[in-house]
Amino acid sequence: MKIAMIGTGYVGLVSGVCFSDFGHDVVCVDKDPKKIEMLERGEIPIYEPGLDRLLAKNVEAGRLSFTLDLPGALHGADAVFIAVGTPTRRGDGHADLSYVMAAAEEIARIADHYIVIVTKSTVPVGTNRQVKQAVKKANPKLDFDVASNPEFLREGAAIDDFMKPDRVIVGVQTERAAEVMAEIYRPLYLREFPILTTDLESAEMIKYAANAFLATKITFINEIAALCERTGADVKQVSQGMGLDGRIGKKFLHSGPGYGGSCFPKDTRALARTGQEYGIPMQITEKVISVNEEIKRRMIDKLLDMCDGTFNGKTIGVLGVTFKPNTDDMREAPSLTIIPALVGGGAKVKVCDPQGRHEGETLLPGVHWIDDPYKCTHKADLLVILTEWNEFRALDLKRIARKMASPRLADLRNIYSVKDAKRAGFEAYESVGRAGFL
Ligand code: NAD
Repeated sequence: MKIAMIGTGYVGLVSGVCFSDFGHDVVCVDKDPKKIEMLERGEIPIYEPGLDRLLAKNVEAGRLSFTLDLPGALHGADAVFIAVGTPTRRGDGHADLSYVMAAAEEIARIADHYIVIVTKSTVPVGTNRQVKQAVKKANPKLDFDVASNPEFLREGAAIDDFMKPDRVIVGVQTERAAEVMAEIYRPLYLREFPILTTDLESAEMIKYAANAFLATKITFINEIAALCERTGADVKQVSQGMGLDGRIGKKFLHSGPGYGGSCFPKDTRALARTGQEYGIPMQITEKVISVNEEIKRRMIDKLLDMCDGTFNGKTIGVLGVTFKPNTDDMREAPSLTIIPALVGGGAKVKVCDPQGRHEGETLLPGVHWIDDPYKCTHKADLLVILTEWNEFRALDLKRIARKMASPRLADLRNIYSVKDAKRAGFEAYESVGRAGFL
């Protein structure tokens, strides 16, 4: 199969590289010349473990290339994937579809043979029909189908998620489009990964329902964590006890400083907006959005308590700014709410993150970037763990405590324990949903 992939972000680049590894001929297109130049040099504009090697292998094999030239990429293509951003539209929470629609219209103006236009971006129910209308209007003679193929990969584990998915969702309207999609995903069919073929609307809805459900699960355990703190229960034990119930499952039951990232915040908002538009308010999702904001604020209060009621004049070392480990993605990370509160409150904030500095330097003004976690905590009054990078999971806490001005640890990812903190000589330790000491 010959595939054109529009957008070389976290989803488009991973999908393009993986499709080429399936044996397809893939041309990845972006309108950002800097990204294309980097990719042509074999450099990866994002941090995603393993992507550099897989990309190099497939470029070497002649199956993968990068270009700014959409007409060249569409030449002879069986399918074109739209994997551009769908951020929140300013003001109303709706997904901003301008990039998707612009890409669809560009395709319509160029394509001159039967092609399947596949939306991989996360788009609200009804969007694929809009894409179809727009393409028809722009090029009434074009022979084409649309398909909805939402992506479920997680940043940080994206290649494995793409190559060994829990399921692939393919929404189509015609047998012809279904056949093209089946051919594209043939390597996964052969390895018996579930491929679910649905109508367009169901495929679109599956993506939002799945993300809103996961955001709900995280927020639920975060709210339980707050109650655990008041009542003396330990949320780690509670999660374990709940998760052993096969109906519940143990994933997404880790409490922390609130969900963030490039998907959950915007997708919950977009689902809530769709519900309002159709007169079926998504009341649970709406509540999840507001409780998640409260959880982030509660974290700031916790840190304030640990700083004797004021950040002013304190030195605070923060480990981790990305919204989760193994990515450089900072979009809507809890750090973007929490760190400005520390800086705004008058603290000197030192920050260490294995991959977050590049993005973080513009997003987090007024902080000091330090590459080494031990130097980051030197002479600090408080150490805050915001992202559970592996590098931060086995720190020499004794060494850290010895060098801090006042050894206090706010472990907002629950990777240490009261015992660890006491043994290391900390004078205060707080986590999320578990007893601490102050
Ligand atoms: P991104 O912002 O990292 O990348 C989008 C890319 O598209 C950018 O490089 C941009 O330059 C390019 N682009 C935009 N318009 C273009 C055009 N007309 N022609 C060529 N290139 C164009 O976005 P992302 O994180 O990869 O997300 C893409 C979509 O996938 C979103 O809808 C998102 O919700 C969804 N998604 C993301 C993830 C994730 O973990 N990031 C997971 C599942 C689904």
